[in-house]
Amino acid sequence: MESVLKQYFGFSSFRPYQKEIIEQILDGRDCMVVMATGNGKSLCYQLPPLITKKTAVVVSPLVSLMQDQVMALKQRGIKAEHLSSAQTDSSALSNAENGEFDIIYMTPEKASLLPTSFWSTLLEVGICLLAVDEAHCISEWGHDFRVEYKQLDKLRNVLLGVPVIGLTATATEKVRLDIIDSLSMRDPHISIGSFDRQNLFYGVKSFNHGLAFVNKLVEEICKYVESASSSIVYCTTVKDVEQVSNSLLKAGVKVGMYHGQMSNKAREESHRSFIRDEFYVMVATIAFGMGIDKPDIRYVIHYGCPKSLESYYQESGRCGRDGVASFCWLYFTRSDFGKAEFYCREAKSRDQREAIVKSFAAAQQYCMLSTCRRKYLLQYFGQNSADECGNCDNCTTSRKENDMSREVFLLMGCIQSCRGSWGLNMPVDVLRGSRAKKILDAQFDKLPFHGFGKEMTANWWKSLGNQLISNGYLIEKIDDVYRTLRVSPRGLQFLSSCTPDYQPPLYLRMTLEVIG
Ligand code: ADP
Ligand code: ZN
Repeated sequence: MESVLKQYFGFSSFRPYQKEIIEQILDGRDCMVVMATGNGKSLCYQLPPLITKKTAVVVSPLVSLMQDQVMALKQRGIKAEHLSSAQTDSSALSNAENGEFDIIYMTPEKASLLPTSFWSTLLEVGICLLAVDEAHCISEWGHDFRVEYKQLDKLRNVLLGVPVIGLTATATEKVRLDIIDSLSMRDPHISIGSFDRQNLFYGVKSFNHGLAFVNKLVEEICKYVESASSSIVYCTTVKDVEQVSNSLLKAGVKVGMYHGQMSNKAREESHRSFIRDEFYVMVATIAFGMGIDKPDIRYVIHYGCPKSLESYYQESGRCGRDGVASFCWLYFTRSDFGKAEFYCREAKSRDQREAIVKSFAAAQQYCMLSTCRRKYLLQYFGQNSADECGNCDNCTTSRKENDMSREVFLLMGCIQSCRGSWGLNMPVDVLRGSRAKKILDAQFDKLPFHGFGKEMTANWWKSLGNQLISNGYLIEKIDDVYRTLRVSPRGLQFLSSCTPDYQPPLYLRMTLEVIG
């Protein structure tokens, strides 16, 4: 194995997990490979054909990625080919059938269009594995479900005895099990690498929405461009892509665009120019996705809160594949948090709707975090890390801890005294002394907390509320898309003891005692 690795790839040793995975494949065992981007998953399916002299079939969703890989493999003297779905060239097909190629790539559509006779011939001639790259696309629980992937299961019955390898960079346990199930894997060997991308810095900034937001963003991006670093700016809508790239153009920055409303040709050209460093900043929707094999991307900037941490991890993971220190910045505005409805359009069932709302809530938590962001991300993917990372904004900026006992008391006390099911808006409006109809109707203008927090803006209070949620003082319950809050036992303890720094007026304390 080592000599083949050296001969074709020039590497003198395997990276963690590669060898054990390849050994399992050679043994004919199905494998589920979950490893962070850039850890060398591709090698796991590229090496076995060179050892066994049988063909490897690789299913991958993105044509441009396959073309790049084929080109790179050919340069190493490996016989690789891409069977496109449009391809009419029957010689490529019969060459493939005759086992002429070490590796053939195809999209899932192509795989399901090929006749059974193709597969049975290939089976006779020799096929060493079926690799399903970006395997999370098969799961409806994943963040990038593609219906064509569902067809792949059928190949299983044709390719009897051929090991199936599922590969992905993101998978929560649920998605992982779904992949195993959907590909009918039998007792697969499971390798889960670390999710920690140590060279990536994680940071978040919040802004008020509107033009000022874009201007601020543009100002910061200009700094990155000065250092000639490749960056991707992810926007949530095509409109934002256009607005941000126009503003950058006005500021004299050469940018490229990529979104689903552009023609295939325009998208491919844009991708290619980016790879060739013809411009440094790509402004895109998440349609600019898988298979961006550019190793030296230094900044991945999210303009707007992403829809889930799975997609955030995947998108930000395109940064720094070469291992050099790189930066993942997320810019959000509170109005992003109202987008759950928008994402729920994709849901086909109540369960899915709940899953979407939950994933989105975790992304919001990430935005509001005041503790180590890496630790939170890793924990989300089921990997516990003991310490603060020292390479995220919360770890590196020593915040001057303002004493906010008074404000914390007011907000939690107000939530406690607005009995019933409310989100953050109602208690914040009460604190700010609103006389809106909903407040008068509920007689909340008579609460002792009414008007006690006028000096702070509603956004300020909401941001405090979110921090209290992420620190466990408040508990947020999400039912469908509605969110309700209550004070946690930890919060109650705070309210009853109050801190030595802040002794609230006696009547406020008494109100709370009455409420209990
Ligand atoms: P992934 O598919 O997991 O994102 P890739 O397969 O694209 O990662 O590999 C990332 C980089 O690591 C590539 O440039 C690849 O050539 C390199 N690489 C893979 N395996 C090894 C190895 N054993 N030794 C050195 N470099 C490797
Ligand atoms: Zn950290």
